[in-house]
Amino acid sequence: MKTLTLIPPSKFSKNVARDLVYGCWCKGKRIAGIQFPPVSQLMVTTVLKENGHDAHLLDAAGLQYSLDQIKEQVGREQYGACIVLTSTMTVQEDADILNELKQVNPGMKTIVTGSQPTFMPHATLARKGIDFVALREQEYILRDLIAALDQGGDAFKKVLGVGFRDENGQDVINPYAPLIKDLDELPIADRTMLPQDIDYFNPIIKRMPFTTMFTTRGCTAKCTYCSSPPFYGEKVRFRTAEKVLAEMEYCQNLGYKEIFFRDELFTASKKRVLEICVGIKERKLDLTWICSSRVNNVDPEMLKAMKEASCHLIRFGVESGVQEILDNVRKDITVEETRQAFQWCHEYKIDTHAHCMIGSPGETQETIDTSLRFIKEIDPTVITFGITTPYPGTALFDEVAAVHPEIGDGSQMDLSRLHTDSFFNQFFTDLSNDELSRNIRHIYRSFYFRPGYLFKWLRRINSWEEFKRVTMAGANVFDFAFNRGD
Ligand code: SF4
Repeated sequence: MKTLTLIPPSKFSKNVARDLVYGCWCKGKRIAGIQFPPVSQLMVTTVLKENGHDAHLLDAAGLQYSLDQIKEQVGREQYGACIVLTSTMTVQEDADILNELKQVNPGMKTIVTGSQPTFMPHATLARKGIDFVALREQEYILRDLIAALDQGGDAFKKVLGVGFRDENGQDVINPYAPLIKDLDELPIADRTMLPQDIDYFNPIIKRMPFTTMFTTRGCTAKCTYCSSPPFYGEKVRFRTAEKVLAEMEYCQNLGYKEIFFRDELFTASKKRVLEICVGIKERKLDLTWICSSRVNNVDPEMLKAMKEASCHLIRFGVESGVQEILDNVRKDITVEETRQAFQWCHEYKIDTHAHCMIGSPGETQETIDTSLRFIKEIDPTVITFGITTPYPGTALFDEVAAVHPEIGDGSQMDLSRLHTDSFFNQFFTDLSNDELSRNIRHIYRSFYFRPGYLFKWLRRINSWEEFKRVTMAGANVFDFAFNRGD
């Protein structure tokens, strides 16, 4: 079957980070205008291609296509199916686009994947423009669904992990498909399918061009605001070091200079991290890299090996500098562990990115002020702060929905308000929407526009490329912090 994996544009932002299959997406401003290549959707397209389908990918968001341009392509190419990874804050926009595309290609089946269809399948199927939802891990479900649609008749009705409306207008939600046991089975995402004329921008990248990789799925933690464990399972599944190194080598051969590992738990297995670091040196890979970690998943031996293997930045989920707030969201880390992890990174000269939230259960003005002081003390290279948001699939969402059924499927939180407006936060904190919004921008001003911090950045700039990147990032952060953009 001829298929299109579409990354649709959003009217709210030209650079939405649409590459994560669960949880929240970012529209870029708070972290200085970031863009990511859609590697998770490349993986889906690669799997379909390897299974004999005429599979195509269109990064209409990256290419900044208008709806008319997408319609023109879809009308011309007459795809049999169109796949869109959607989210809580884009599901309505995405459904509207799919509905428009059906006008020029009425026979095309539309399939949406991701956490919103997984945790809100009925509300998703109720939207005009959507024929199928795929629940949880998408690759093999889409492989089986596209094969069944190709076969014709009722074959699609038996595909596990799929939901649809039957001929009587009743929703049918099939049982979950099993999760993929061995992630090494999945191919290397074929990056030659990405548009060649886009330079995906990201200010924390040191060497362009960069690409992203996903090497783990699932999480053993139980953070109440996160939908990763219910989506990908409560165990961590890993691609082996060998497979990770093979993909890095492939990326290097395509001309990439930096890898951004997008999985939250890259460091969950120390043994695997050390094997990857040894492999990078043995294969003489000339790639710098970035990864994410929990603060209690690093130690000096690991950080030393990572630094020697050209890791230049680690992103940590810090969330708060107040133990009570961390405990309230069941983060299962201590403030002391955070302090220690940042201290070690400073010692090994690895840059850090602290991800933080305000407006969590129990938050007060005092805890926000304490968090900000703590963040300045641990001295990350960059920060992002957002307002804690209850998303479908999370324990926090269930708690709110039990008392406030008007939260519905959560999709009132669209990209225009994400992270800068509160969303049912009054259920678990006494801070008003105005207070939370004001605090977010105040934190950015207070952290980023300190003379000492700015001076440190100026001293780091050692090339024209870096100057351009830092200036562009700084302008975006300035706009956000001083309320000129969101
Ligand atoms: S550590 Fe917490 S926030 Fe991170 S992926 Fe696991 S459950 Fe989600």
